[in-house]
Amino acid sequence: DLAHGSILYLDDIEVSFDGFKALNKLSLDIAVGEMRCIIGPNGAGKTTMMDVITGKTRPDSGTAFFGSTIDLLKKRENEIAQIGIGRKFQKPTVFEHLSVFENLELALKADRGPRASVFFKLGSEQLDRIAAMLQLIHLKSQAQRTAGLLSHGQKQWLEIGMLLMQDPKLLLLDEPVAGMTDEETERTAELFLSLEGAHSLVVVEHDMKFIHELTTQGATAGKKKVTVLHEGSVLAEGTLAEVQANDKVVEVYLGR
Ligand code: ADP
Repeated sequence: DLAHGSILYLDDIEVSFDGFKALNKLSLDIAVGEMRCIIGPNGAGKTTMMDVITGKTRPDSGTAFFGSTIDLLKKRENEIAQIGIGRKFQKPTVFEHLSVFENLELALKADRGPRASVFFKLGSEQLDRIAAMLQLIHLKSQAQRTAGLLSHGQKQWLEIGMLLMQDPKLLLLDEPVAGMTDEETERTAELFLSLEGAHSLVVVEHDMKFIHELTTQGATAGKKKVTVLHEGSVLAEGTLAEVQANDKVVEVYLGR
């Protein structure tokens, strides 16, 4: 059922905190294989939206589907993690005392449950998967390095690699390039563009240069949509050029 149509469908989502509407009739429709960038000023509701998708926050009302059949509002947070939604928070979280290779190994074995992981050895197919992932996340030469010694950007790539080892259908990424150097940001854009199509991605970012790179390059260059959130709902949606030319968006970012 995920072969066509929407990977994620949110409609009329409302979340209130003590009467304050953090999400106010939020709707969002992400196609299978789509890369969607989400922008919006602080307090717009971006984190709350991610929390609703991952089951961390239960909305007061609305609809949220993963694919056409899985009702996210009927799933617990731990179940949602297992149905193919991977979330990357802003700060890197890797096992600092383990090597890069061991971090990926653990992520791969996590599928089989904590007990199995201690006992089974990696087969050649699994070794190949880790080697391919090291290549993809630009850490091939760092495989035996202790993760705690990596740069900030390298830790972010490692964590993304760990999420990818579990082959998520949908990846949610919260400000992935915050704190990265220009070169690391550039390489992160390349990485994400290489995932487009095989995975669906929702990228929340403030870095407009990065968003420009993501939306104007790759398989669907120039056609990718950017969603602008403001005060808990969608203010504008369209190509980057379209939303940047939108009067309401200009007002929210520059005016008042
Ligand atoms: P963003 O990620 O776009 O900066 P958030 O989703 O974090 O926005 O927040 C949206 C609004 O909801 C903000 O005004 C924030 O203060 C409020 N908010 C978020 N979480 C809570 C909470 N647990 N309790 C009260 N208010 C909250």
